[in-house]
Amino acid sequence: MTAAVEFQSVSRHFGSGPNAVKAVDAVDLTIAEGSFFAMLGPSGSGKTTCLRLISGFEQPSAGAIRIFGQDVSAIPPNRRNVNTVFQDYALFPHMNVRDNVAYGLMVKGTPRALRHAKAEEMLHLVQLGGYGDRKPGQLSGGQRQRVALARALVNEPRVLLLDEPLGALDLKLREAMQDELKSLQQRLGITFVFVTHDQHEALSMADSLAVFNQGKIAQIGSPEDIYAKPRTRFVADFVGSSNILPPALTQALGGPAQWASLRPEHTRLAATGPLTGTVTALRYLGAATRVVLKSGDTEIAALVPAGDPLPDPGSTAAIAFAPQHLHLMEDK
Ligand code: ATP
Repeated sequence: MTAAVEFQSVSRHFGSGPNAVKAVDAVDLTIAEGSFFAMLGPSGSGKTTCLRLISGFEQPSAGAIRIFGQDVSAIPPNRRNVNTVFQDYALFPHMNVRDNVAYGLMVKGTPRALRHAKAEEMLHLVQLGGYGDRKPGQLSGGQRQRVALARALVNEPRVLLLDEPLGALDLKLREAMQDELKSLQQRLGITFVFVTHDQHEALSMADSLAVFNQGKIAQIGSPEDIYAKPRTRFVADFVGSSNILPPALTQALGGPAQWASLRPEHTRLAATGPLTGTVTALRYLGAATRVVLKSGDTEIAALVPAGDPLPDPGSTAAIAFAPQHLHLMEDK
């Protein structure tokens, strides 16, 4: 498999001395060609800086970046075959949609008739055929998002960078656009690198994802792997909702004295079980009810499917689980 993007021990520091910010700290990363790759992490964890390093708007303080095998340290942004879709779309308000989309081709000197034909083709691709004469101000948020996408795709980039592209959309539209983006990526076969702080978005869209924490990659892998086998406490806590068991509790359950995660959906309520506690909260979620037990200082959540009997608040209940679902983690 060819690598579209490779980071080799890449750092980007801002400032110097005791106030220096390690925005990206010795990151190693390989993004496979044709994949949908997500960068997931809390605000300030270094995701956007990584995108800017790929696009060339930012230079590494140390380390090497290769795009399709080529070291890009001396290659300016406009010659990297990489385009970015920004969260605020950055459309030109005075230009109509067609000219917005054709802008990159105009800069390259493509003749007017050809660039308009290509812009129309891209507008059809993002389901905006017939909208070419409108101004961005006459479009909805989701339509503006699609124009921004068409404007990046018209340049036929080999890598498309998307920085929280759906952040400005309401939930319903956001979910519709997630499906559209995913199917577009699959049809075009272009490598997409997608930044988000939304774990559901990353898990549902990506072929592969990197979880960022304080400028470093805490874990990289498939969504299934990261969800089922979080390597650290940080990953278990950030991705999905997990019960995080302290070493003493893991040991009491028959494991080693190590931190462990146990997903609520892998637990069930039982009359007796290795883990007992007092029921402190019941939260109705539609398809299931989330039941929280307090065992010593630790809160443990279990999911009870709709229709199954629920315990009373304040009563004592036990939680049972299959041992293979108790997943051991590093204390980080
Ligand atoms: P968000 O989700 O909020 O966009 P992020 O994960 O994309 O966050 P970055 O924007 O990459 O995070 O920022 C990482 C860190 O680097 C932050 O602490 C940020 O304040 C700092 N940083 C980014 N750019 C600069 C800059 N030009 N000068 C100084 N510090 C910067």
